[in-house]
Amino acid sequence: MATLTKLDDIVSLCKRRGFIFQSSEIYGGLASCYDYGPLGSELKRNVRNAWWKSTVQMRDDVVGLDCSIFMHPLVWKASGHADKFADIVTVCKKCNVRSRVDHLANAENKKAEGLADKVCPACGAVGQFTEPMPFRLMFETQMGANVDDSMTIFLRPETAQGIFVNFRNVLDTTRIKIPFGIAQIGKSFRNEVTTKRFIFRTREFEQAEIEFFCAPGTDKQWYEHWKETRFNWYLNLGIKKENLRLRPHEKDELAHYAKACVDVEYKFPFDVDDWQELEGIANRTDFDLRQHQRGMRTLNAWYEKKGDLSKIELNSESEDYQKGPLSYFDEEGKQRFIPYVIEPSAGIDRSCLAFLVDAYDEDEVNGEKRSLLRFHPALAPVKAAIFPLVKKDGLPEIARNIYDDLKKYFSCFYDEKSAVGRRYRRQDEAGTPFCITVDGQTKEDQTVTVRERDSMKQERINISQVKQYLREKLDI
Ligand code: ATP
Repeated sequence: MATLTKLDDIVSLCKRRGFIFQSSEIYGGLASCYDYGPLGSELKRNVRNAWWKSTVQMRDDVVGLDCSIFMHPLVWKASGHADKFADIVTVCKKCNVRSRVDHLANAENKKAEGLADKVCPACGAVGQFTEPMPFRLMFETQMGANVDDSMTIFLRPETAQGIFVNFRNVLDTTRIKIPFGIAQIGKSFRNEVTTKRFIFRTREFEQAEIEFFCAPGTDKQWYEHWKETRFNWYLNLGIKKENLRLRPHEKDELAHYAKACVDVEYKFPFDVDDWQELEGIANRTDFDLRQHQRGMRTLNAWYEKKGDLSKIELNSESEDYQKGPLSYFDEEGKQRFIPYVIEPSAGIDRSCLAFLVDAYDEDEVNGEKRSLLRFHPALAPVKAAIFPLVKKDGLPEIARNIYDDLKKYFSCFYDEKSAVGRRYRRQDEAGTPFCITVDGQTKEDQTVTVRERDSMKQERINISQVKQYLREKLDI
């Protein structure tokens, strides 16, 4: 299937079946913002739950956190976001459209590095660009109702900083010891220069991040561990191996504080062979905790002098920073240090898109096209649909009873409208792994047919076995 057609097909299926809608659609829509509909919100919740289960529930060395989106302005000063979180952009002199410099393509047969040979993605003009300049990505807002004491704060551009500033709280309130991680899922906001590509890059999105704290010297081993663990997470949830790869960052791509970084990339159907980041895994060294120690000291000094908090500059780092308030005392090795951090940072929306793209398929049944989502059972929005073959002879009552029992354990759907073949197709398109049909024979021998989505094979089982059957097949 041609790649671009595939994305168009998915966008239209998402709208048609209630996975994803344009935000504020009845008002003409708000660019780059999307709403998850009845099926989409289930899918997204399942993606979050699968991440949480594998990173928090199934591990003894990771705990969860849920921080507020608004944070003290100094957090962003210390983290570097207030000064440095910007994209380098240029404006096309012909059409006035702003573009990220690193997203500009070369004109055909041109290989030059500068802007002279780059093409404007909006109007196609070549080399008509203004001088590159930074464009700040954080959204600003005002907190507080009074003019005198309101202050400018930012919507967080990542969830990670909430974890760093709670490092001490988590250490002091749990018995956890290094090496350990803190995990969080939540909304982040970036005033992205270019959006497009459906939910791939939006200005409001959800991240799933782990900050894994370890002793300096063990960081390389934990970096390898998380690379493998996170890569396998996508494979275990059904992403095809040929569509997934790890791409280590080149030296010149690395943030100044990062020792190493690798992206988990997915082959998205935007262009031919368009490998794009799904998740970044970075060795952030001890940079963040050291910076927040500087932030804490700066604020303490500011309380004495006062002044304009928005113009505050960080104090220099004290020489004994290894003994600072965010340091860790290792009982066994009898030493104090600032932990190193390995950060796997994933996007929930981007993962949803990858799972949708990877699961989407078309085949032919009795000469008719069938489109389906071959979701992993853990991700499928609905696990089982229950149908009476016809809407009479007491079959709806039996089907309803089965549905009422199953819905206590699985997300289920009851449907008695239209021909059963059409009902199957609708569930295939929603990615429902099993359809259970009650027919005339049910009344005689208490059996129903169970139809499997991918193979379309049907088998008859006793009503009393349905719950256990689904448990085993769904593995949930
Ligand atoms: P990019 O280079 O694509 O802008 P990034 O390297 O800035 O991404 P990170 O800061 O590493 O992204 O964010 C971690 C993860 O958060 C990304 O891998 C992605 O899944 C998700 N993410 C980041 N920005 C967006 C966005 N604007 N829309 C949707 N998801 C995003």
